[in-house]
Amino acid sequence: MNSLALDQVTHRFADVLAVDGVSLSVGASELVCLVGPSGCGKTTLLRVAAGVEELQQGRVQIGDRVVAGEGTAVAPEDRGVGLVFQDYVLFPHLKVLENVMFGLANMRAAERRSRAREVLEQVGMEGFGTAYPHELSGGEQQRVALARALAPRPRIMLLDEPFSGLDARLRNQIRDETLHLLKTSGTSTLMVTHDPEEAMFMADRIALMRAGRLEQVGTPAELYFHPANVFVAEFFGEVNQMTGIASGGQVSTPLGAVAVNGVADGTEVRILVRPEALQLRRLADCEAIPERTGVVQASRLLGRTSLVHLSVKGAGQGPMHLHARVPGRFLPAENDVVALILDSSQAFVFPSTDA
Ligand code: ATP
Repeated sequence: MNSLALDQVTHRFADVLAVDGVSLSVGASELVCLVGPSGCGKTTLLRVAAGVEELQQGRVQIGDRVVAGEGTAVAPEDRGVGLVFQDYVLFPHLKVLENVMFGLANMRAAERRSRAREVLEQVGMEGFGTAYPHELSGGEQQRVALARALAPRPRIMLLDEPFSGLDARLRNQIRDETLHLLKTSGTSTLMVTHDPEEAMFMADRIALMRAGRLEQVGTPAELYFHPANVFVAEFFGEVNQMTGIASGGQVSTPLGAVAVNGVADGTEVRILVRPEALQLRRLADCEAIPERTGVVQASRLLGRTSLVHLSVKGAGQGPMHLHARVPGRFLPAENDVVALILDSSQAFVFPSTDA
């Protein structure tokens, strides 16, 4: 059974259609990341699921219970959800242990205390029970907020940009710990983030939104390697773009032929190629004269990878400017000629009308 099922949820703010007929589910122990550009409706959808935003249209089901829609509107505190919002601060006048015990009103005092201690230990904050929130760092406060949300064993955790207030290094660490904790405790989670890399790292499945609608839902690998459209491909990183005409099930590009499926001959198509889909070789390392070459315009060592800017002769067009991302130890000099090899599994073809 799904832990959360949103069914045809639509939500308006005056004349802004923030969420437009979205259906999305989170399975048992599953972590789903809701991603998309700023203003696409992620937070609104999460708030509707939590019940802090009243449902206008559609249905929200948590476990086997309809909590909103069909004439029902269960209060947020009775939905069995754990909330961690970016600005969901701890109660400043309560100590850490009391903050965590707050959500456990239905238990006996001794039980509340022992459950609160247990989750504080899970988030590595067992030594901080008597501290006040202002005595903690941002990362520590976030761990306590997570513990407080997890303490009542919610059916679903709803997290809204939970790491965005933390600096980059701490963010990676807390993100790691949170993922580990959610997975080991088997907690079902819907998490909002605007960061595609964070979503790829955290999610079992990613739901990508644009302008209130879902563009694609799938595993990180499905969205990355099989994007449904140009928007999805571009969301997960920079792409080189070319155009061409489909002919005989393929399109010829300056990087070689790329297969085109289900497009009639003569149709103009867009070809998107990720920078890491381009492999480069020094001419001296090639056994035969390479079919395709490019001239290095600039190369920059970024650490693990190098970014190489190339000028490539177009087929009947002027020279094209392309970016390749290669292992960091390969750093050709400006004006070097290099062989180009395209991994066509990372070249995506869409009708040119796709935006
Ligand atoms: P961000 O990543 O910037 O937080 P988001 O994807 O979470 O964005 P929402 O906050 O859900 O997007 O907003 C969706 C749309 O609804 C936006 O156009 C926003 O301006 C609008 N909106 C959100 N909340 C309200 C509100 N309380 N009143 C009026 N408009 C709102």
